[in-house]
Amino acid sequence: MLSQRTWEAALGALQVEVPKADFAAWFRDARFVRAGGREIVVAVPTVFAKEIVTRRYREMVARAVSKAHGGDVDVTFVVQAEQPAGPPAWLADPAPAPAPVPAAAPPAGTAPGVRLNPRYTFERFVVGSSNRLAHAAALRVSERPGDVYNPLFLYSGVGLGKTHLLHAIGRAVLAQRPETRMRYVPCETFVNELLHAIRTEGRGDRRRRFRERYRSVDLLMVDDVEFLSRTEASQEEMFHTFNAIYEAGGQIVLTSDRPPREIARLEARLRSRFEVGLVADIQAPDLDLRRMILHQHAAASGASVSDEVVDFLADRITRNVRELEGALTRTLIYAELHGLELQPAAAEQALSGLGRAAASRPPATAAILAATSRHFDVSQDALLGKRRDARTAGVRQVAMYLMRNDGRETLPEIGRVLGGRDHTTVLHGCNKIERRLKLEDQLKADIEAIRVHLSD
Ligand code: ADP
Ligand code: MG
Repeated sequence: MLSQRTWEAALGALQVEVPKADFAAWFRDARFVRAGGREIVVAVPTVFAKEIVTRRYREMVARAVSKAHGGDVDVTFVVQAEQPAGPPAWLADPAPAPAPVPAAAPPAGTAPGVRLNPRYTFERFVVGSSNRLAHAAALRVSERPGDVYNPLFLYSGVGLGKTHLLHAIGRAVLAQRPETRMRYVPCETFVNELLHAIRTEGRGDRRRRFRERYRSVDLLMVDDVEFLSRTEASQEEMFHTFNAIYEAGGQIVLTSDRPPREIARLEARLRSRFEVGLVADIQAPDLDLRRMILHQHAAASGASVSDEVVDFLADRITRNVRELEGALTRTLIYAELHGLELQPAAAEQALSGLGRAAASRPPATAAILAATSRHFDVSQDALLGKRRDARTAGVRQVAMYLMRNDGRETLPEIGRVLGGRDHTTVLHGCNKIERRLKLEDQLKADIEAIRVHLSD
């Protein structure tokens, strides 16, 4: 029987065959996921690692596994970020146990009780002059929740580390005080849950449960509170939630894309509450910080990247850390695909491909479908068919998103190409991906990787 044992035996053989440094870089974090029939599925932690092992080692790995098994076996690599060891029950709402987390399925992050991204820690947050205050304040809060800076209100443009700091606070607090009742929620989720509770009020005690869930915590973190301004009911609810936690000595941390006084239509009483602690901003990173972040990201990807390449990227991408990391991932994959040395020239080509793809010929729907199917290892038939499990549906939505944004197709046309779906289904899918992209850097990297293949 194919099993974890088979994989371990194969790994032992690979360790002998693969140069030591390469083994450490690409196989140390590879983990057995499942096996069935003649196939074994192995997870690696990053999109880049998946590209490397698939291109360089797939055959070698298949041989090693086949040998260990004593018959032909095919190997599939998937991307699977490290999962936090079981989160405390109150972090996640009771929900059916999730299937083994596939790369494309919405992780708990999209469920009501959001899990923390294991990558978003204080250790991995690079500090520079533009984020020093925000970082120091977040660290203080994590050491003494409820005691200083309450609430802590962080604001900045997109992709500058607000969510990273929130998750870091959550993780650090849990490490020091595991008994803390904590809730992290994107504001949009808070609003949607509330509206849902209000709509279904007649049929039970949802509203009450909603209140209990949010008001009975020691640490409440709400991400992107500018989203509140859209509905009155949510402002009212937030006001009372805030007061309940504050008065009980709990800690509140909020983030937004702007300071409280600039949030449109924010009630004065909420604004004054938001401002009563510390309001700290994060500015765009300076050149030094951009370099340091790139070096760290490269190291975490298992790639060795020269100063020249780092400088090239740091010079060009200046306003958004997420884009900075995306550009590096793209460069790594591009160089790997084309067998190029990691030089600034490769980075330039990788980034110009991006410009070209966006500027002239949009990729064809057929190419998008094929590339998406290949990247996630979900068959095109499944994507065109009726399957609605989370993984297939998630991958299908990625295809919709790419057809809409990169392929510039109309919604009805996308629906037609994807097995005759309604245009509202397509719109829903595109919106879903846009929302997930705000929360899931892994998905962002997946989409970047597909784009690299498409721009070839
Ligand atoms: P925001 O919530 O402000 O839009 P995120 O927290 O999602 O931004 O950050 C975007 C990406 O950039 C994440 O992958 C995050 O880890 C990374 N990032 C941002 N700032 C830093 C930093 N100072 N050090 C390391 N990574 C960072
Ligand atoms: Mg964010």
